[in-house]
Amino acid sequence: MASPALWLLGDQLGPHFHDAGEHADRDIVLIESTRALGRRRYHRQKLHLVLTAMRALAEQLGDRVTLIRADTYREGLRRYGRPVVVHEPHSHAADRFARALRDEGTVTDIVPTAGFALPKPEFAAWARDRRRFLLEDFYRSQRERFGVLLDGERDPVGGRWNFDRENRAAPPHSPTLGVPGPWQPVENDLDDAVRADLDRAREEGRIDPVGADGPRRFAVTRTEALHALRTFVADRLPTFGRYQDAMLADDWAMSHALLSVPLNLGLLDPLEVVAEAERAYHDSGAPLAAVEGFVRQVLGWREWIWHLYWHLGPRYLRHNLLAARRRLPRWWRELDADAVEAHCLRTALRGVHDRGYAHHIQRLMVLGNHALQRGYHPGELTDWFATAFVDGFPWVMPPNVIGMSQYADGGVVATKPYAAGGAYIDRMSDHCSSCAFDPKVRVGERACPFTAGYWAFLHRNADRLRGNHRMRRPLAGLNRLRDLDQLLDQERGRRRF
Ligand SMILES: Cc1cc2nc3c(=O)[nH]c(=O)nc-3n(C[C@H](O)[C@H](O)[C@H](O)COP(=O)(O)OP(=O)(O)OC[C@H]3O[C@@H](n4cnc5c(N)ncnc54)[C@H](O)[C@@H]3O)c2cc1C
Ligand code: SF4
Repeated sequence: MASPALWLLGDQLGPHFHDAGEHADRDIVLIESTRALGRRRYHRQKLHLVLTAMRALAEQLGDRVTLIRADTYREGLRRYGRPVVVHEPHSHAADRFARALRDEGTVTDIVPTAGFALPKPEFAAWARDRRRFLLEDFYRSQRERFGVLLDGERDPVGGRWNFDRENRAAPPHSPTLGVPGPWQPVENDLDDAVRADLDRAREEGRIDPVGADGPRRFAVTRTEALHALRTFVADRLPTFGRYQDAMLADDWAMSHALLSVPLNLGLLDPLEVVAEAERAYHDSGAPLAAVEGFVRQVLGWREWIWHLYWHLGPRYLRHNLLAARRRLPRWWRELDADAVEAHCLRTALRGVHDRGYAHHIQRLMVLGNHALQRGYHPGELTDWFATAFVDGFPWVMPPNVIGMSQYADGGVVATKPYAAGGAYIDRMSDHCSSCAFDPKVRVGERACPFTAGYWAFLHRNADRLRGNHRMRRPLAGLNRLRDLDQLLDQERGRRRF
């Protein structure tokens, strides 16, 4: 009897999924499920990226791959008619589905995913009996476990594990960082075909996407992903760390890697990404602070978020400890940046509309900060982040959105809410000098929605946050505001953002 084929999901597309060990000899089945594409209002470019990546792999591997277009995955597998093995899917729902298929006999085996460096059992062993549960501890153990940036067996190169202090600079006084732009793909026939199919699906009402349609900016094949990685490491990694937390209105990419798409599509192995960065430190003189800052993102944060997703479980998504119940406004859901006056928020939302991308500090300190201050429902917000961004996948969301950005878990992931007023945004960006609002003004026509929103947020949640010692000083600041009542009135009725 022929050995089972390998069913690859749309985020498992690289050779470490299909060419490693016993899988190298397997036939492959890929399924495009129409229902999955239309289930939510995804960003148009996200649909484009996933479909193009799957079809490109099918084209590249030729006869080895059967690509099936079906209404559902179940129907696709039925039509394929052969038993399959599958890598662990990357979401709770898909995991449950794969297990059900295994019980039914359609799936013969579920093998560990190749998309992350640390296997789940090793994380469980690390987490067991641990009283402190911190990213910093996990990150160190990852460096030791994988021998990254080590001097000897256990010591960090440069004598420190963490160069964060060097990596928090305000932006320079120039419109852009002045570094070479990111790698940009050249679209081809496959892009044209996918675009035509998505246009048809939209006309027929099978999908209702948000955001602009292209051009494609992210890698969808292994070759493209390696180009993107190597171009980033050569041109932009040296300035990665220093301006990691900064924002410039006319520089959407700054020194960010733009690798979350190929990483999350499974086109790049995180360990090869880390190795490429480490090589740049040893062989090309890339600054240690920059390389360490980047390694921390990929080997630390990305892996941490992945393991927390499983560790915290599906119920974690329901947390809403700040009782935030406001529906996302229409302009937010429709990515209508023109409806927004606040320069920082407009720039971030326009990035999401135009590219399905905003860099980390825009996600956390502008979009997330706004949602936190205004009390948007964390579950609805999680859905929005998962669908409106090109790199949004279910596993990334709960710890980043429910935990870090919205503090809806009451402090499991973050030690305090990431709420900040306009002064922070003014320090870390060039937005405020050309904004309709003024970061120093709390009340009146020019009152900055972030500055006033920050105080209104603290006031609304004072009782819930009082037990957190890191919030003591900010909460004490509330008592010093002589115009607090006026500010609260103003924010209750605020229409202009
Ligand atoms: C509210 C919120 C929503 C987010 N949504 C997503 C998302 O949908 N998909 C996603 O991949 N990341 C998400 N992140 C994490 C991070 O913002 C993005 O990974 C990053 O902006 C992607 O751009 P980049 O490749 O240029 O990253 P860089 O800034 O260049 O970082 C390098 C890489 O580090 C990894 N990384 C860094 N931080 C994180 C993190 N907190 N979680 C996971 N990976 C991380 C990513 O793979 C990224 O490609 C979110 C963060 C927040 C606060
Ligand atoms: S003034 Fe306020 S709203 Fe305007 S850019 Fe600055 S922080 Fe954003």
